Amino acid sequence: MNARRPLIAGNWKMHETIAQARALVRALRALTLPSGVDVAVAPPFTALAAVAGELSGSSIALCAQTMHERDEGPYTGEISAPMLRELGVTYVILGHSERRAGCAENDAAINRKVQAALTHGITPIVAVGETRDEHSAGQALPKVTHQTRAAFAGVAAAAVERCVVAYEPVWAIGSGLSDEPASADRVMAEIRACTTGLGDARILYGGSMKADNAALLLAQPNIDGGLIGGASLSAASFGAIAECARTRALT
Ligand code: PEP
Repeated sequence: MNARRPLIAGNWKMHETIAQARALVRALRALTLPSGVDVAVAPPFTALAAVAGELSGSSIALCAQTMHERDEGPYTGEISAPMLRELGVTYVILGHSERRAGCAENDAAINRKVQAALTHGITPIVAVGETRDEHSAGQALPKVTHQTRAAFAGVAAAAVERCVVAYEPVWAIGSGLSDEPASADRVMAEIRACTTGLGDARILYGGSMKADNAALLLAQPNIDGGLIGGASLSAASFGAIAECARTRALT
């Protein structure tokens, strides 16, 4: 099997009630998604169980937007890997920039979460990316390679290979303005090279990926798929992005 089989993952963030989430999954299931492309959706925690039910019998995978590093304990408001596994979650987004900035998630905590996810058989999608200021100061590469090495510190190369990294320039997220495909690819080549095991791992691009720019982004040698925010809230646009990965699946 192609180790770098394309992956298109939708991060619904704090959108969709249970009823809306059910409707969105039904609309997605009504589409013919391309074979050879892995597709995942990350609803809010409240809708995970309902979405798991709606996905029953489909090849669309269930993803969580974050998790706690411990299995259980006095951590009010948190959700653990075993709890996610129980719901059929197979991917978890770790280190999204909104959580790094808004929930004080640091590199060390993200590393512990990566290890916990792997222990419980959940594939981490580790998000890394530079801010607008770091980008302007030419600091994108040191920033993302540092975040990547920190996330996988102490993780065996064979396990790193099974993980996913999402390069998400923070300034591109939700801005409507994606990075230039060649520029994103250059950064992603450095991410791939900075940690043993990532050579064969999937690296996604995230940051205003839409149906009209996905094909160019997905044509780049290091872009194995996308982590999609806004455009994943419409089945039509999310499906169109997945369709753009079809060509990649054939290579
Ligand atoms: C994201 O938040 O992971 C993201 C990529 O958002 P958007 O597609 O809306 O830029």
